[in-house]
Amino acid sequence: MTQNALSVEFARRLSETPKSAEERAAILENPGFGDYFTDHTVVVDWKVDPEGKGGWHNARVEPYGPIAMDPAAAVLHYGQEIFEGLKAYRHADGTVWTFRPEANAHRFNKSAQRLALPELPTEVFIESLRQIVSADKDWVPNGDGEALYLRPFMIATEAFLGVRPAREVSYRVIASPAGNYFGGELKPVSIWLSEHYARAGHGGTGEAKCGGNYAASLAAQLEAEANGCKQVLFLDPTNDFAVDELGGMNIFFVFNGDTLVTPALNGNILHGVTRDSVLQLASDRGLTVEERKITIDEWRQAVADGTLTEVFACGTAAVITPIGELKTADGSLVTPELKGESVAMSIREQLLGIQTGTVEDLHGWLTQL
Ligand code: PMP
Repeated sequence: MTQNALSVEFARRLSETPKSAEERAAILENPGFGDYFTDHTVVVDWKVDPEGKGGWHNARVEPYGPIAMDPAAAVLHYGQEIFEGLKAYRHADGTVWTFRPEANAHRFNKSAQRLALPELPTEVFIESLRQIVSADKDWVPNGDGEALYLRPFMIATEAFLGVRPAREVSYRVIASPAGNYFGGELKPVSIWLSEHYARAGHGGTGEAKCGGNYAASLAAQLEAEANGCKQVLFLDPTNDFAVDELGGMNIFFVFNGDTLVTPALNGNILHGVTRDSVLQLASDRGLTVEERKITIDEWRQAVADGTLTEVFACGTAAVITPIGELKTADGSLVTPELKGESVAMSIREQLLGIQTGTVEDLHGWLTQL
């Protein structure tokens, strides 16, 4: 979509009722994931003018609070919405950094194209992160594995019930202090194989980060929970039912302790920033990395013949989380007990180290906020 150049001046209206230092400290004591929100939000509006040209305007920081929206707003009916997820990390010297925000900005714009929403200039995306972190810097935790999760999103706000791309849109950012996504100590998770539901099809929205994909994953998520699992593994019906990805994470396999395999990006899989970073760090170490098709049969065979050494999930929220078991309607595939060093945990340490400033950022992945 066309857009005007944007003046990136953000107006600032700070909250008159921010959480007290005590309330905030109590939340940061045990932030969990996605339960608490900071005192501010960032908003930038977009509108098509009478000449039919779209433009961003009215960039601002304002107190966190409910959104007043017309009940006919397109997002509420047709789900014209996209979002992103990345984190702000506090380093030992108190400075706050984020990880590969240009990659998220790029993916946000790819999602925008797919959902017929306006693109947002990368510098505005990054500035919006800076704005919320500067308003809410005391909310960036510094505990082990903790960070401030940033959630940029874009919604169609135009009140109109015809089905067409909205002419009024709002871009927003909210922030939420985050600990371990799966709660408590890091331990291997069980995942559920969804055989009735898929999350992507040819020409669909599989590689866009849009709300509809997640709404469509919830029935499978319920099935997973009923079977004692925390996440769902989706297969790709357009690719011989090969392994696709989890509801909110990409998946990796380690063979013989030295070869990492992850499903290739085929239009149906989210281009995970963590996935891409793991591939880079693994090849930096001289490990073999393969982006290719992998089937449940190959997985089963590799468990049986002992070549599969690890399986793990990766994403901004989960970082790297070992997968201990794939549960299916007709039995389980249990990841064999590891003999020797865990490649997954070692890359996890390195990645977290880069993000939190204790390991050298050789790829220039960090941006100060
Ligand atoms: N797949 C899906 C479906 C996701 O929602 C996410 C989380 N954004 C990921 C993969 C991992 O992506 P990233 O590493 O960029 O967080």
